Amino acid sequence: MDKENRAGLLSVVLPSYNEEASVPRAARTISELLAQAGVQHEIIFVDDGSRDGTWAAIQGQASLHPQVRGVRFSRNFGKEAAIFAGLAQARGDCAAVMDCDLQHPPEKVVEMYRLWQQGYQVVEGVKVSRGRENPLHTLAARAFYSVISGAMGVDMSKASDFKLLDRRAVDTLLALREKNAFFRALSSWIGFSTAQVEFEVQPRVAGESKWSIRSLVRYAITNIAAFSAAPLQLVTLLGTVVFVCSVALGMWSLWQKLTGQALEGFTTVILLQLFIGSILMVCLGIIGYYIGKIYEELKDRPRYILSEQCEGESEGGKAEKTL
Ligand code: UDP
Ligand code: MG
Repeated sequence: MDKENRAGLLSVVLPSYNEEASVPRAARTISELLAQAGVQHEIIFVDDGSRDGTWAAIQGQASLHPQVRGVRFSRNFGKEAAIFAGLAQARGDCAAVMDCDLQHPPEKVVEMYRLWQQGYQVVEGVKVSRGRENPLHTLAARAFYSVISGAMGVDMSKASDFKLLDRRAVDTLLALREKNAFFRALSSWIGFSTAQVEFEVQPRVAGESKWSIRSLVRYAITNIAAFSAAPLQLVTLLGTVVFVCSVALGMWSLWQKLTGQALEGFTTVILLQLFIGSILMVCLGIIGYYIGKIYEELKDRPRYILSEQCEGESEGGKAEKTL
């Protein structure tokens, strides 16, 4: 690896879902900043099946700026899929991933790029503050990250999707075959020489956050299951606890029988049955969830389906096609 000031094309990947208002602003801000810094770049918008005018906005930007490109999903496949689609489209020697709503400060991309030039292959954006959110959200996020960090052995509590990856890291990620990919954890998991850049989460420039409590819970469960088999060990743990309790209760019942005391009987039996029954159900649920995930991976469906793509005006003329 040549350590001294390599130069190269930077691809900026922007997953966008219902971001018609943010797209023009993002394209303008990022291209101005990078042009000022003298960084050769392309901007790739991934329209994640938006229901508003996001695709039209992307096409508009592509016709204005030669370095802007866009791909459109056939429906909403989620941010993770959008990130991977953008990385698959990237032609750069390195690729940055950031939010379209400019909550990830674009000026940090230049800082990341400079670190890449010094030879780092993965440059991670690290949140110094989580921006404004409600305390319940912060608490839930903390619980989620402690499980994920435990499973990975890497502190993920400040991790974000704001990253810059060298071509080699991008290709490594794209070669991973799991469908249920969790970008922010996988990009640490792959290793490589890593640097960190701190940033403050900015307020959204327009539109609103796509996350409801329900989707966050689903996101947490999916990603914990994708990265850790710990819930399966919970089954063993629950089993052991119930076993220890049942030995104690068994000895106590036997003692009562031997000493001729009457058992309280019926209520105890019902309570025990309910208790053991529910534990068994929960355990089956956990196992079933993992089987479901195995089934999903086994089907080997693509992570996303593209329906259209557009490309900025270049020497070859304007290219726009329907896939
Ligand atoms: N996003 C996406 N697909 C989705 C949801 C979100 O591509 O299904 C994009 C969204 O357009 C934005 C980024 O992911 O660029 C972060 O989403 P959002 O701002 O809603 O999340 P938050 O910043 O509140 O965590
Ligand atoms: Mg956001």
